[in-house]
Amino acid sequence: MEKLILVRYGEIYLKGQNRPFFERTLVDNIKKVLGNYDKAKVFKSQGRIYIEEIPVERAALDALSKVFGIIGINPAWKTKKDLEYIKNMLKVIVEDALEKTTGENPTFKVESRRADKTFPMGSMDLNRDMGAFILQNFPQLKVDVHNPDIRINLEIREHAYAYHENIPGAGGMPVGTNGKTTLLLSGGIDSPVAGWMIAKRGVRLTAVHYHSFPYTSDKAKEKVIDLCRLLTHYCGPIRLHVVPFTEIQQELYEKCPDGLLTVLMRRFMMKIAEIIAIKDGAQALITGESIGQVASQTLEALASTDDAVSLPVFRPLIGMDKKEIVEIAEKINTYETSILPYEDCCTVFVPRHPVTKPKLDRVRQAETLVDGEALIERALEGVEVYEL
Ligand code: ATP
Ligand code: MG
Repeated sequence: MEKLILVRYGEIYLKGQNRPFFERTLVDNIKKVLGNYDKAKVFKSQGRIYIEEIPVERAALDALSKVFGIIGINPAWKTKKDLEYIKNMLKVIVEDALEKTTGENPTFKVESRRADKTFPMGSMDLNRDMGAFILQNFPQLKVDVHNPDIRINLEIREHAYAYHENIPGAGGMPVGTNGKTTLLLSGGIDSPVAGWMIAKRGVRLTAVHYHSFPYTSDKAKEKVIDLCRLLTHYCGPIRLHVVPFTEIQQELYEKCPDGLLTVLMRRFMMKIAEIIAIKDGAQALITGESIGQVASQTLEALASTDDAVSLPVFRPLIGMDKKEIVEIAEKINTYETSILPYEDCCTVFVPRHPVTKPKLDRVRQAETLVDGEALIERALEGVEVYEL
């Protein structure tokens, strides 16, 4: 008998022809997050992924719970397809389950699946006989087939497998199966969540951050690198581009109407991000905007930002309240870093009276007051790249 981890995956089933590609990508992504466990064997068989020769410990389970494409993770045991061996295994599992169950008179149920049709007992018979065996050996237990405290799953495949714990997976699709996008990553709460949501659909990320040295500190830059690193636990490797933005902000501040400053700044951010995206082979831009959250996120302002680029702009948080966004940020562990009090480039040059409903023709007109092309070129020359 040995311990292992079973991984169940979901939505990939929907992808008829692409299925092998999705499965292979998921196996690769799992191998990457388990990089520290160099002896671990990860392989796919009959719609499950098996991870063997790995200590079934918290760190491994945590890493797996962040991999998109997984719907459930089961710490499991495996043994010979022989009733005596199976009974011994079930004893160990019930003992383990009892240790983890609170309450006076726990109830249980055996759910069997016979994937190997050559095995002499059917799943109904297995449920009944193994249930009776458990009752004999653990008199404190009762059967409850509807709502048991302990659910023992027994699967007869190439070997006999059993488990009682189900750790929910991150859902979504394996990163790398749905193209690449570029995330505009500030140091705030929203943009890391936006990136996570798009990556959840199997999309690889690259990221762009604008900093305004010396108005924004190295600490602020470090914070964004940290956020990006936190995202890699879910999203896989991320190339982060840090773009110097001070000169653009100063020029806009000096030469353009004060009320349009934010919208103009955002247009420059989009334009630079688009150039970087195309260089990275990304097919869309992502921001953390949500309607009405601030002056630059009115419908008019959003239209003005979109107008600056031709790549599609995805805003996965568009209809969400701050509270809902914070809940996700906490769940994915970016919140604590996001709220560290380092200034963002957007807060450095804030207009006194931002125009909340900018007219597109006025915005375009205002933009001609600076030499956009030269500014963008110089900003791109100063880009620092981090492979995270
Ligand atoms: P966040 O919490 O993500 O900072 P926010 O509510 O503060 O968002 P804004 O500052 O208006 O909103 O920024 C809107 C979006 O623009 C961000 O979600 C992000 O995608 C992008 N953005 C803002 N500042 C930067 C920056 N310094 N570098 C890269 N992208 C940025
Ligand atoms: Mg921000």
